Amino acid sequence: MNSADLIARAEQTHTLTEDELLHILTDTQADATLFAAADRVRKKYVGDEVHLRALIEFSNICKNQCLYCGLQAQNKELPRYRLTAEQILALAHKAVEYGYKTVVMQGGEDPFFTAEVLVPIIKQIKALGLALTLSLGERTREDYAAFKTAGADRYLLRIETTDKALYEKYNPGMSFENRLRCLRDLKELGYEVGTGVLVGLPVQTLRSLAKDILFFKELDADMIGLGPFIPNPQTPLKDAPAPVLEPSLRVMALTRLLLPDINIPATTAMETVTPDGRIRALQSGANVVMPNVTEGEARLNYALYPGKACAGEDPSKCRGCLTAKLYLIGRTVSTGYGFHKRMPRNGIIV
Ligand code: SAH
Repeated sequence: MNSADLIARAEQTHTLTEDELLHILTDTQADATLFAAADRVRKKYVGDEVHLRALIEFSNICKNQCLYCGLQAQNKELPRYRLTAEQILALAHKAVEYGYKTVVMQGGEDPFFTAEVLVPIIKQIKALGLALTLSLGERTREDYAAFKTAGADRYLLRIETTDKALYEKYNPGMSFENRLRCLRDLKELGYEVGTGVLVGLPVQTLRSLAKDILFFKELDADMIGLGPFIPNPQTPLKDAPAPVLEPSLRVMALTRLLLPDINIPATTAMETVTPDGRIRALQSGANVVMPNVTEGEARLNYALYPGKACAGEDPSKCRGCLTAKLYLIGRTVSTGYGFHKRMPRNGIIV
């Protein structure tokens, strides 16, 4: 097998087998070819516009024990916070002022935020004319249905890894089947569904990452967000090796080849690992950035991992800063909502 041939074929057909994906993931010499192909596919299918999604990190309280995550319940060093409905809405208003069209409400699995609490917040955010993404973890189908009826448009729930044994090792007390159930429920309820994985977890293999990419295609995801696992000193995985950007870029670029018209963010974890990591991602298949509009202590204490890029920045400056960086690479900020538009692939709408 020759990586350049496989990449050229995937650029046209948007298919690769598990072994072919593995071959490319293993061949670090093929990076420049892979990233350039993913960049062309991005341009052809989703264009030069970059969609900005304003992130509101509304609670860092979490009942789960995910071994990689700083928010895990057993981390006693992290000062905890929970924004009030008024604070969340004030941030949504600011997102509108800054010119964003989408708000992403992300938080730990905080039991305080029942459907009764969330539904009025969702309705008020939607009344501002924003598209709304939720990212609050695993809930019942009834809750997902209630959020959808209240107006939520999209839901982001990473599968984290499609290796069931690895998933259950790193997410004690959680079940892989329930995570899949959530993703299926969300699809059936009509959400735009985003998922994704951590890249570089201890003992995760490249073959497992190849399977992850095929899973994204099988799920028919609308959005894929992924990034490097960054060891957090306040978690059990604190001694894992230092993260690098390239494996995440490879998985992301291959995802763009196989799912050419979806939304793919250049993630904060990528920027944290390498300065300009997000720009490199945007030149290797990504078309979305999620600037953080959370303020004050909350902005500092949503500490999934150390050194989070832009944590010390003033959120009112992020849009201008990003717009300038995008201009330099020939890209513009989208003025639309940036919903997933399904495009014909070789003349066939799939
Ligand atoms: N409770 C929500 C949000 C979780 S935090 C949910 O379950 O979906 C959002 C994402 O941060 C997670 O899905 C995970 O992939 C990522 N994350 C957590 N810890 C991380 C770490 N140490 N390094 C990189 N990414 C991390």
